[in-house]
Amino acid sequence: MAPSLDAVSSLRIIIVGAGLGGLACAIALARRGHQVVVLEQAVELSEVGAGIQIPSNSARLLQSWGLGPFLDPHVVEPNGITFRRWESGNVIGYTKLVPDFRENFKAPYYVVHRAHFHAALHRRALELGVDVRVASRVVEYDLEAPSVKVETGEVFLADLVVAADGIKSIARKLVLGGFDTPPMATGFAAYRATVDVNKIKADQDVAWLLEKPSLNVWIGEGRHVMTYTIAAGQSFNMVLSHVDTTDPATWKQQNALSEMQREFLGWDPRLVKIINMIDKTLKWPLLSGSTLGTWIAPSKKVMIVGDAAHAMVPYMSQGAAMAVEDGGALATVLSLISDPTEIPAALGVFETERIKRTGQMRDASLLNGKLWHFPDGPEQRLRDESMLPEIEGRSFSWSANQWSDPVTQWWAYGYDAESEIEKAWTRQRKRGQYRRT
Ligand SMILES: Cc1cc2nc3c(=O)[nH]c(=O)nc-3n(C[C@H](O)[C@H](O)[C@H](O)COP(=O)(O)OP(=O)(O)OC[C@H]3O[C@@H](n4cnc5c(N)ncnc54)[C@H](O)[C@@H]3O)c2cc1C
Repeated sequence: MAPSLDAVSSLRIIIVGAGLGGLACAIALARRGHQVVVLEQAVELSEVGAGIQIPSNSARLLQSWGLGPFLDPHVVEPNGITFRRWESGNVIGYTKLVPDFRENFKAPYYVVHRAHFHAALHRRALELGVDVRVASRVVEYDLEAPSVKVETGEVFLADLVVAADGIKSIARKLVLGGFDTPPMATGFAAYRATVDVNKIKADQDVAWLLEKPSLNVWIGEGRHVMTYTIAAGQSFNMVLSHVDTTDPATWKQQNALSEMQREFLGWDPRLVKIINMIDKTLKWPLLSGSTLGTWIAPSKKVMIVGDAAHAMVPYMSQGAAMAVEDGGALATVLSLISDPTEIPAALGVFETERIKRTGQMRDASLLNGKLWHFPDGPEQRLRDESMLPEIEGRSFSWSANQWSDPVTQWWAYGYDAESEIEKAWTRQRKRGQYRRT
């Protein structure tokens, strides 16, 4: 039996999609006492075989939701993020994560294997009594009932349907009234890969990369490479981004490895050495959504969250973190209502707050795609100069490194999705009372 954390009425909630976003929402809602069923189309739960960053704004929520015992054995807590010049690897920027992020934002900054993160969410969801059903592809929505029909013909009735069905969401079009606004190509693509750490350890030129747990980002014209260790230090994760305006339909995954090696010819020889250790890679298009007019169907009974609502390029490492925040905000606002008739108002507050927050993160992510990719020249020099104080240990009031920039740090990592939605709800209530008097 799930513990009740003050939800006034326990709702029957269906979540479509058991990705990181759907499971996070399920946990957030179940711990407030709602009855949650998750419907996942895949026959088996799984995630891409790569790493993911869990920034402090997400880690804080996950910890308070009881993920610790399932997640902590698998995470790595990097000391810092080092920005490096593309052709030499020289340090040009540095963000100290430990202990700064724990001290300032009251939560660690983790990296983890996606499969471990996904499994931790799944186990915690089951512990809270969530009914997770695989091989359950939703093929039809009834926005008014609300209900969903799965491929087998079975119909699931609920009080609220939350679609976390990813970037290719079918629910998004329905919520938007029949005209979809799907995420669009950004002109960026990424190769994703992992390298066995034993290969890196065996090579003196690159073994130093594993001495301390850290994130390293090489940045240069039109490209960057983000690296960190995952699986409690057993695997080296790499995301190699580049500008690519070709149609993904024309990509041949069998050529991805050699194309990737060509893209980074002439870069820091140590980085090239590691790239040459990669056995296989997957080329991935990076899409970004626009600000949608709504996330909620007119019936106020079906809504979208996660990548379905706010896909973004991964350059702030915040896509899944935003879905975790969606879950926290939704569960909190539903716990604040005193009567089920207030659900539409609560969802309205949720939508306004979350569209604003995720739009800001999407724009910051796109900005990194510009800042990191300058060709050598005046803009690159200005960028690098702005990061000098952080590597020289001098104080600074802004930095082109958004992980270090004090203003960005506070709005990105200091944000608490649960308390912010509570404040937004209180503001809305006060405005309502004011109008009535
Ligand atoms: C290269 C790269 C690096 C990234 N790095 C980070 C990072 O470091 N940190 C971070 O926070 N984010 C990162 N992200 C973003 C993050 O991966 C996504 O934001 C997140 O995985 C989205 O989760 P989701 O649950 O919303 O969608 P998805 O993961 O797409 O899950 C959707 C689920 O719904 C299911 N589904 C779809 N349709 C149906 C249906 N009709 N019926 C039933 N089930 C259905 C799918 O099978 C799937 O399981 C990165 C993304 C990329 C591409």
